[in-house]
Amino acid sequence: MQILRTVAELRRWSRAARCVRGNAIGLVPTMGALHAGHASLIRAARAACSHVAVSLFVNPTQFGPDEDFNRYPRSFGADCALAESERADVLFAPPVEELYPNGSDATFIEIPGLSDRLDGASRPGHFRGVATVVAKLLIAGEPDRAFFGQKDAAQVAVLRRLVADLRLATEIVMCPIVRDADGLALSSRNAYLSAGVRPQALTLSRAVRCAEKLVARGERCGDALIGAARQIFASEPAVRVDYIAVVDWATLEPVEVAAPGTLFAVAAWVGETRLIDNTILS
Ligand code: AMP
Repeated sequence: MQILRTVAELRRWSRAARCVRGNAIGLVPTMGALHAGHASLIRAARAACSHVAVSLFVNPTQFGPDEDFNRYPRSFGADCALAESERADVLFAPPVEELYPNGSDATFIEIPGLSDRLDGASRPGHFRGVATVVAKLLIAGEPDRAFFGQKDAAQVAVLRRLVADLRLATEIVMCPIVRDADGLALSSRNAYLSAGVRPQALTLSRAVRCAEKLVARGERCGDALIGAARQIFASEPAVRVDYIAVVDWATLEPVEVAAPGTLFAVAAWVGETRLIDNTILS
C-alpha cells in the first residue's frame, strides 16, 4: 500500500490507473481512527473496483469552534495496518495545508437547505465543511465510486446533492451501518465513552429499533414514531436528545407520513459525546 501526501500524487496515481481500460477507481473518505465500519467500506470498494484509495484526513472545517477537532482520536499506525489488511492500494493522508492551501481564506461549497437540516442544524457549518472536503477529494482523485456509511445518512444525502449539482462523474455508494454486538453503531467517537456511560449510548439504537418495529407493525405517522422514541429516551434521563427526526431522505425535510425510503434519525449527547444513529424505513 502506498502512502500519498499530496493532491498531485493522488491525481497521478488515479490517472495512471485510469489509463487501462476497464479499471475502476474506488475512494473511501475517512477521518481515521478506523474501525470495522470503515473496514466494511474498504471491502465494498475492493469488491467493486480494481483500484482502491482510502483517504484519512481530520477535516478542520467540519468542526465547530467548540467541538472536538483537537482531541479527535488519531491513530495513524493502526489505520495504515487496517487499510493494508483490507487491501487498499493507496492511503491518502495529506497535511491540512495541502487541502487548504489558503488557510481559513478557503473556497467553500454551499448546499443551501440540506446543509441546515439535522446535523447541519445542530452543527452550523458542518455540512459545508463536509461538502467542501469531499468535493476536493473527488476532484483530486476522480474516483468512479466513493463509498460512505449509512451511519451518516444525512451526509450521504448532502453528498448526492453535491455530485448532482456539480455534475461530478462519481457514484456515491452507501454501505450498511456496522454495529457492535449490543447494537451500538460503531463510531470513532465511541472511544470517548467511559464504561460507566456506554450502556446509556444504547438508547440511540433502541430508539431506532423501536421505529423499525412500529413501521413493521403498520405505523406510518411520523409524530407517533418520534413520540415512541422520545419515551425511550425519557427512560435514560442522562442522555440529552439533540434531535429525533422523520424526514425525506433526499431533502431532509420532515414528513408527516413515513413511506419506504423515509429516514428516521436520532442524535443525542451521552455525557460529552454526541452520537447519531438512523434507519431507512422499509
Ligand atoms: P468518519 O471517519 O467518521 O468520517 O467516517 C468515514 C466513513 O465511514 C463515513 O462514510 C461514515 O459514514 C462511515 N462509517 C462510520 N461509522 C460507520 C459504521 N458504524 N458503519 C458503516 N459505516 C460507517
